[in-house]
Amino acid sequence: MNLTSPSEIRALLSRHDVKLSKALGQNFIINPGICPKIAESGGASPGVGVLEIGPGIGVLTKELAKTAGKVVSIELDRRLLPVLDETLAELDNVKIIHGDVLKLDLAGIIAEQFPGMDAVVCANLPYYITSPVIMRLLEERLPIKSITVMVQKEAAQRLCAEMPSRQAGAVTAAVAYFSRAAMLFTVSRGSFMPAPKVDSAVIRLDIREKPAVDIEAEALFFRIIKAAFGQRRKTLANCLSSGLAMQKGDIVRALEHAGIQPETRAEQLSMEQFGRLCGEIARFAVCGECEM
Ligand code: SAM
Repeated sequence: MNLTSPSEIRALLSRHDVKLSKALGQNFIINPGICPKIAESGGASPGVGVLEIGPGIGVLTKELAKTAGKVVSIELDRRLLPVLDETLAELDNVKIIHGDVLKLDLAGIIAEQFPGMDAVVCANLPYYITSPVIMRLLEERLPIKSITVMVQKEAAQRLCAEMPSRQAGAVTAAVAYFSRAAMLFTVSRGSFMPAPKVDSAVIRLDIREKPAVDIEAEALFFRIIKAAFGQRRKTLANCLSSGLAMQKGDIVRALEHAGIQPETRAEQLSMEQFGRLCGEIARFAVCGECEM
């Protein structure tokens, strides 16, 4: 069966009485050039176990299974399970798990399904959960080498933005902390069925062995990043004092100790500056009212 042929997809879905769900981000790849490129970029090879999120009707799954040792795909839409049984019937290195990628025990799945293999994540992500999925994969420090995903082009630009830059946001900082991000190629909206309203891009996040900066209080670091980018037009001093519920004077002193002008904006800070700022704010939190 040709899983990139719109007429064959329509026939397949109608045989299984499935109508595509917008809410679940069901835009399936119909450009035959895309899946081989994602599989290659994602490092699918014999010693590698690929965790796929949202196989849909299995078009990318099939391509990954051609070269990967094993593919485990998590699909939330129960209606697609019999479809996948049909489209992937001939493959003995694919396992489908029914569930929500945001709720399943991913560390347990990787340990159980990929013993002795390097694990990577590859997916055409459901766009409505791009950031939560990527943040979960990174923050849980799963034993994975890389994350290669198709996302909306604008999201890709933000995820892979330089720091500092105007495009940077809280998610950029989190991605840069845990990984080295690269924008690989763009994919036009006409490559999907149904066609979404925006273009897409494939990015790869190579997981760092240790984070980009040394941070003692990691939870505080992420609170600072969230607060700093929370109100982009405001200065750091204002964002941080409201976001962290601290006196503005204390924040200004922490900024000055870190060598940062209080009127700077979050998008002007490098990772290293965020790291220094976190150290100063943590010191103040421990020290209370004492002179910094
Ligand atoms: N891989 C297929 C392709 O490239 O044509 C389908 C990709 S489609 C953009 C996203 C898929 O993710 C859909 O099959 C959808 O049902 C599934 N999905 C949506 N939310 C999910 C979730 N929370 N957990 C797992 N899968 C989900």
